[in-house]
Amino acid sequence: MENTTQSSNQERTLYRKHRPQALSDVSGQEHILVVIKNALSEGKITHAYLFSGPRGTGKTTIARIMAKRLNCSSPQGSEPCGSCPQCIAFQNKASLDLIEIDAASNRGIDEIRALKDRISLAPTAGKYKVYIIDEVHMLTKEAFNALLKTLEEPPSHAIFILATTELHKVPETIKSRCQTFIFRRATTEQLINRLKKICLIENVEIEDSAISLIASHSEGCFRDAESLLGQVLSMQDTIIKISDVETMLGVIGFKEVQIFVENILTKNVSGSLQQLRRVMERGASLRRFTDDITRYLRAVATFSVAQNHSESFDNEVTEKLHNHAKNFSLESFTKLLRLFLRAKSEMRDVTYEELPLELVIMEWCGEAQTNKPQNLVAPNVVPQQNAQAVAVGKMASPIMGAPIIAKEKIIPILNGSQNKAMTEQQNSMAENPELLEKVMVVWAQFMEKTGKLNPLLISTLEACKPCLVRGNMLYMITEYSLYKERLGDNQVRESLEDLLVSLIGEKILMRVALKSEAAALRLPEPKMVNPVIAFAETPVAVNTNPTSDALAVLGGELVGG
Ligand SMILES: [Zn+2]
Repeated sequence: MENTTQSSNQERTLYRKHRPQALSDVSGQEHILVVIKNALSEGKITHAYLFSGPRGTGKTTIARIMAKRLNCSSPQGSEPCGSCPQCIAFQNKASLDLIEIDAASNRGIDEIRALKDRISLAPTAGKYKVYIIDEVHMLTKEAFNALLKTLEEPPSHAIFILATTELHKVPETIKSRCQTFIFRRATTEQLINRLKKICLIENVEIEDSAISLIASHSEGCFRDAESLLGQVLSMQDTIIKISDVETMLGVIGFKEVQIFVENILTKNVSGSLQQLRRVMERGASLRRFTDDITRYLRAVATFSVAQNHSESFDNEVTEKLHNHAKNFSLESFTKLLRLFLRAKSEMRDVTYEELPLELVIMEWCGEAQTNKPQNLVAPNVVPQQNAQAVAVGKMASPIMGAPIIAKEKIIPILNGSQNKAMTEQQNSMAENPELLEKVMVVWAQFMEKTGKLNPLLISTLEACKPCLVRGNMLYMITEYSLYKERLGDNQVRESLEDLLVSLIGEKILMRVALKSEAAALRLPEPKMVNPVIAFAETPVAVNTNPTSDALAVLGGELVGG
């Protein structure tokens, strides 16, 4: 009910409002606090400290508490009293004995220059003048020299606390004058504890899973965690749910991750691909989505062997997770985990981030039937296990393009005997560089048009690179057997051939070989393919026969153009 008073600037003020005022309030950095507390209690203070570590890990917070404690008129052990005039002046940022310099600003450099002259001035109220120089690595060489001179002979009342996120940029001469502390990123647990503490003080109820999500999103940074919490507090009611946080962060919730995993586990190819498409349309990060999938799979796998796991999901997700653990084998989870880990690392190297995820879906769901003798799997004898996927494949939406998915249609082009036949055939065919040239000229346009008919085929064409034309046969090379199989579908391939013919005006056939087969087939390295020009306003030739055929076969509909 008090929420109406929570202003929109809460997110900005929350971090400041809950900034620890005593060393005992500081979360994390225990290894540093032990040393600093001892030094303060025993009065063994040095003149220069260097705090190094990632942003938002408490460097300036600890520096300010130290400054306050050093000037407090009735300190209690290592802590400031918090109520003497000095402490109050520090808390209100009104003390003249605390000088904070931001080395990243121009003013910072001027201030360092002026330091040398002003440093001899005694503290106004307390015992020490404390200089906190933030982002000290940003100083110019000249400013470093000025600082060094000051550090070499500091007056007894001066204490320097230098902070940096990039220790390697601080000159050795400076480092050697300082006692250095290395700050660590906060653990998820420390972040969670800190956020819970704040919620308690703010009197806000928040689901544990919502706290976990904020913590896992903050990458070890207290400041980010608190700022994210502030954002949620400023827009939500007294009870904060995980869905609120998901909305704010624009992440795909675990409910959706769970549905995706279920689609995969039940080998629902079209369901998985459609969901992937939706995730992309929402603009969510696919890397993040992949991370969440692995987090989920890890939790299910752990649960299926140990009956518990370390993630905190909401009740509904947890309940279903238990069912997944019961109903599917541990082997499925571990295998999928490996596939998704691989996909995550492959995302770095591809133009289309969704490609590695599509590969996981196809490899995993296509596995059952690649084990069967090829060409012999008639649609009506599809094993029970595959029935669902095939059935769903047939219901696939126009955009999805059923032919890719319908399992019974995946026929590799080159099996053993065909390979031989192909080798013999190609010996009798002359290379046709002119035709290859023609193909390469229109290739980007070809891919774009294909993409409009069926976006999923773009990744296939991306992965199948033209390398050679013999006679009227265009050879393409791919690293993945799945793509070879995709274009092995006669209907898909023929419709692509028709589309290509409509662009170059010459009959051409397409053949895909695996990279590993290239040498045996005497195929050269693939040609460089120019990137697809997305959204180019070239009209698609809807009315020519080849394209309408392609439309019919690919089950596509024209998108734009
Ligand atoms: Zn005090």
